Amino acid sequence: MSNTTVEQFAAELKKPVEDLLKQLASAGVNKSSGGDSITSEDKQQLLAYLKKSHGSDSGTISISRKKAEVSTVGGVQVETRRRSRKVVIPSADDLAAEAKAKAEQAAQEKQTVEAAAQAEREAAERAEAEKAAAEAQAQAEAARLQAEQEAQAAQQAQQTEQEEKPVQTTETETISEEEKPAKGKNKEQKQQQPAAVRPVVSAEEQAQRDEEARRAAAMRAHQEALLKEKQERQARREAAKLQAQQEAKAAKEGKAAEQRSAKPSEKAPLSAVSSGKSESSARSKKDERHNRDDVESRPRGGKGGKGRSQNAAQEERVRGGGKKGKKQLKLEPNQHAFQAPTEPVVYEVLVPETITVADLAHKMAVKGVEVVKALMKMGMMVTINQSIDQDTALIVVEELGHIGKPAAADDPEAFLDDNAEQAEAEQLPRPPVVTVMGHVDHGKTSLLDYIRRAKVVQGEAGGITQHIGAYHVETPRGVITFLDTPGHEAFTAMRARGAKATDIVILVVAADDGVMPQTIEAIAHAKAAGVPIVVAVNKIDKEAANPERIRQELTAHEVVPDEWGGDTQFVNVSAKQGINIDALLEAVLLEAEVLELTAPVDAPAKGIIVEARLDKGRGAVATLLVQSGTLKKGDMLLAGTAFGKVRAMMDENGKPIDEAGPSIPVEILGLSDVPNAGEDAMVLADEKKAREIALFRQGKYRDVRLAKQQAAKLENMFSNMGEGQAQSLSVIIKADVQGSYEALSGSLKKLSTDEVKVNVLHSGVGGITESDVNLAIASGAFIIGFNVRADGSARKLAETENVEIRYYNIIYDAIDDVKAAMSGMLAPEQKEQVIGSVEIRQVISVSKVGNIAGCMVTDGIVKRDAHIRLIRNNVVIHTGELASLKRFKDDVKEVRMGYECGLMLKNYNEIMEGDTLEVFEIVEVARSL
Ligand code: GDP
Repeated sequence: MSNTTVEQFAAELKKPVEDLLKQLASAGVNKSSGGDSITSEDKQQLLAYLKKSHGSDSGTISISRKKAEVSTVGGVQVETRRRSRKVVIPSADDLAAEAKAKAEQAAQEKQTVEAAAQAEREAAERAEAEKAAAEAQAQAEAARLQAEQEAQAAQQAQQTEQEEKPVQTTETETISEEEKPAKGKNKEQKQQQPAAVRPVVSAEEQAQRDEEARRAAAMRAHQEALLKEKQERQARREAAKLQAQQEAKAAKEGKAAEQRSAKPSEKAPLSAVSSGKSESSARSKKDERHNRDDVESRPRGGKGGKGRSQNAAQEERVRGGGKKGKKQLKLEPNQHAFQAPTEPVVYEVLVPETITVADLAHKMAVKGVEVVKALMKMGMMVTINQSIDQDTALIVVEELGHIGKPAAADDPEAFLDDNAEQAEAEQLPRPPVVTVMGHVDHGKTSLLDYIRRAKVVQGEAGGITQHIGAYHVETPRGVITFLDTPGHEAFTAMRARGAKATDIVILVVAADDGVMPQTIEAIAHAKAAGVPIVVAVNKIDKEAANPERIRQELTAHEVVPDEWGGDTQFVNVSAKQGINIDALLEAVLLEAEVLELTAPVDAPAKGIIVEARLDKGRGAVATLLVQSGTLKKGDMLLAGTAFGKVRAMMDENGKPIDEAGPSIPVEILGLSDVPNAGEDAMVLADEKKAREIALFRQGKYRDVRLAKQQAAKLENMFSNMGEGQAQSLSVIIKADVQGSYEALSGSLKKLSTDEVKVNVLHSGVGGITESDVNLAIASGAFIIGFNVRADGSARKLAETENVEIRYYNIIYDAIDDVKAAMSGMLAPEQKEQVIGSVEIRQVISVSKVGNIAGCMVTDGIVKRDAHIRLIRNNVVIHTGELASLKRFKDDVKEVRMGYECGLMLKNYNEIMEGDTLEVFEIVEVARSL
């Protein structure tokens, strides 16, 4: 190409020289003025630059115009289609027919082997191709219409121009040379001309060809748009981890699609119809398989795509219909499966009080064996059906990377609106509840007795009939309630159960003895509980009494008398003689005033079980200290795992009463079971709720107990192995009163030796129930019933499961029996028992055989299989066994006293005349404790 100047080139492009210079500069071609020459390379460079920066600088050169055209078609494609639907749908059949005709024509013209083969081979596919062709035709039509509208003004102008020309007068005439460039320039306009104006066949062919090229372009744009749409949709569905992978795949598909759609237009100006057809025919089976689900192939291949309804929603619907639709539907879930989380899913696991391994695994969506493994790592040997407790389960949950939460949802207690009514009721002052503590023999019992005797019995004929564990006294200044279980053990035991029953502690210190270890303990317990102390310096009637010394000693333990500037009241009393008892009570009341104790009175009662026992005639008898509200006869009471209607209510004198307010202890009858001391009690509205909660608690209790029993710790197993023969005797104790089972279990535990351990699994007050038997079954224990019997179901279960239940009414009998049972478990002792004596009278040496002893049995018997001890001059030389025992020439089993015999010793030859053999046997003797 010959060189031109920039100016010339600008004139050619109809652009200002400055603009061209700028563009050249940005394309990297350095031209300073319009006069500079420009080479064809420079032009190419500019062209490449403009191609690259397409879109940003529209209006230059034809490339950008073309792009704009394509992008316009693509960009407004949806609208175009919408419009085309309106316009084209009524004439769809015509179009389809036309498209079919064209397709056939094209097929004939082209004579492509594949198309023919495909058409003949696959009738269905041909129909499909035809439909696709129709569709493509319709789309092309739509695009054409769009273009038509856009170019309308220009078209009209052109038409006018053409009409003026004489060349267009006849239809039969061939196109003149002048017309050709005009047609070339305005293909579209030519195409849009009405049939009447259309020129001769050759012109029509030309026009058709051009039109088809346009259609192909429009379709390509349409396909590209659809592909883009699909890709976007796919991308949205993709999981984060697989996105890159899927995108790559989509891109690959996209490329293939592009190649496919580009083919026809590249090869030749094939009609859109034939391109559609050839595409479908050219598609190999493999391609079909792969692309069946491609959006790209769907518009042509979609069986459901009768109409040109290609928008997303419709696609979804259509997909659901046809065969391919089914496949597509199948793929949907597959895609979800494919998107399965690659990161572990963290579950929030609600863990109840107890849970079986299987249930726990289920909650975390892991296999049971995983949980078992985790537990083994923690040193617990469990089976999949075993229950584990909440704490362990929570650790396992954390271990497996989930979030464990203790579940309270299934706890009916969670729904107890316990404080609702209590909060509403008016708070009124209530009497203080006092516990007496102190060192042993300092006079606690004497003090309690004196107060009870002096105050409670007032006006009562017959005195105290029974001891219910608590009583209240009325003084001129107010009521005081005493818990009649002295000592800090009981106090602490109650506290350990979460019950705070005591408001004030009376610390008894004997004035003649001083501060003792238990005094210090009592101070510690009271302080730990935050309960104020009133010190009763007792036994001041005694000559040795030195109350001042007590004060000094207590000050050392931070109990400072108020007269010394501290905050603790000290009262010198004599429990024996009743000196100053009133002053002590006053001091207590004064302390109570400071505490400003209040409680609602007009509300359902809440309280604490002080004591409970099983009475043969009356069933479960419990002493309840009402802490708030008022307990009335007939109320439905829930106490721990026991519940029931209060059938009868007595005060500390055994006198029936109908109601009891705060701080008043009462004895109640009517509970279903014997509750434990220290357990909370509360009045509930209805029996159903009470029963539900009680049963829930029972179940929970049992489960927790079983869980603790069942889980054999690996380390324990190993240590057991280490101990060799260590055995344990498990026992469950049920007794009529707490004192009995405590004494019994204490005594039994003391029987434990290194070899046999007594393991008291459970002890409690009340009859032997099914759950006790279950526990015994689970842990191989036996049951002791002390003054109690098993109920029917428990007895039945025990019989079928061979659980031993033993009844006693004397503690020592029970202890003796356990001792005997333990003896049975001791490894039997091995004892030597001498059965005879033999004197060696002659030694005969036989070569190759050894020394044979000729003997006389001097005592007892000698047995062939007995052990012997060789004694020379009263010294044991050898211990061993016999190798043979003969009488004359015969082997015998035994030889009795007074007979001669011949014998040899096993592995020992050094026998001499005059030696004696002590014959003994090893016997196993059962041991006892
Ligand atoms: P506890 O172990 O703290 O309950 O002490 P007790 O109440 O059983 O009393 C132990 C001993 O101290 C008993 O022999 C009582 O008689 C005696 N005792 C208690 N209080 C007094 C008192 O005030 N004066 C005298 N002299 N002896 C008392």
